[in-house]
Amino acid sequence: MKLYNSTAEIYIPDQKPVDEAIKRTTHMAIGAHQDDIEIMAYDGIIKCFNHPENFFFGVVVTNGSGSAREGDYATYTDEEMIQVRKVEQKKAAFLGEFGALALLDYASKEVKDSKNTIIENEIKKLLEAARPEVLYTHNLADKHDTHIGVTTKVIRALRQIKKENRPKKVYGCEVWRDLDWMIDSEKVRLNVSGHPNLAASLIEVFDSQIAGGKRYDLATMGRRLANATYSESHAVDQENYVTFAMDLTPLIEDDNLDMITYVTSYIDRFNRDVKERIGKML
Ligand SMILES: [Zn+2]
Repeated sequence: MKLYNSTAEIYIPDQKPVDEAIKRTTHMAIGAHQDDIEIMAYDGIIKCFNHPENFFFGVVVTNGSGSAREGDYATYTDEEMIQVRKVEQKKAAFLGEFGALALLDYASKEVKDSKNTIIENEIKKLLEAARPEVLYTHNLADKHDTHIGVTTKVIRALRQIKKENRPKKVYGCEVWRDLDWMIDSEKVRLNVSGHPNLAASLIEVFDSQIAGGKRYDLATMGRRLANATYSESHAVDQENYVTFAMDLTPLIEDDNLDMITYVTSYIDRFNRDVKERIGKML
């Protein structure tokens, strides 16, 4: 497996040969930044953790050079920051027993360039090599443009792959905007209650981000707890932590389904739900 950027790399925590390690993938996540996968795709990580047949493949598209830096990291150059974030992501992959980790090392502006087909082609190559059953990526109602840039490229890449080789499920997950607003019956509920110690460690290991003044460790666990607690349909004592996802699978079942139309239809139904609930009381 040869990656496009000379600085890109593939890390295999158990040191299996790269092609073999990628081929065993069952669950895959493609995220924009170092730590996005641990925040949004913990469901996939625990489905593979300590499992004899399931293997998780994490793909990080950007180099993380634009990240905020404070405290110990305040004086770090972009280049030093890239190195720190790579090491942190590898620590997470090791802790989470990933089957493989690919650090593609693109600049954020390349991801946000709608005409960039290099990234799309590389994602296609990785998807074809891994052939995951389940794929996690950013949700298309996220408010971070780099996240949206990743997901549109992922969908376009998937649409170039033969239908029989596509994942069975594609989930758009929560990072920079949660999905609590979706109609309950349309939410994909991912029970991420397992191994709470691992869940916390996988976020805490990104010290450069947390030391930068953002308590992603507390916020991520807090959102999962809130999702479980404020959910109507399941007993909280069975699901202590929940992440929500938007099912993006219809976008790869029908290649002509417009991404904007698909996502805004969820917003339309949310709009209708709010109006109906108020209307009944007037
Ligand atoms: Zn991100």
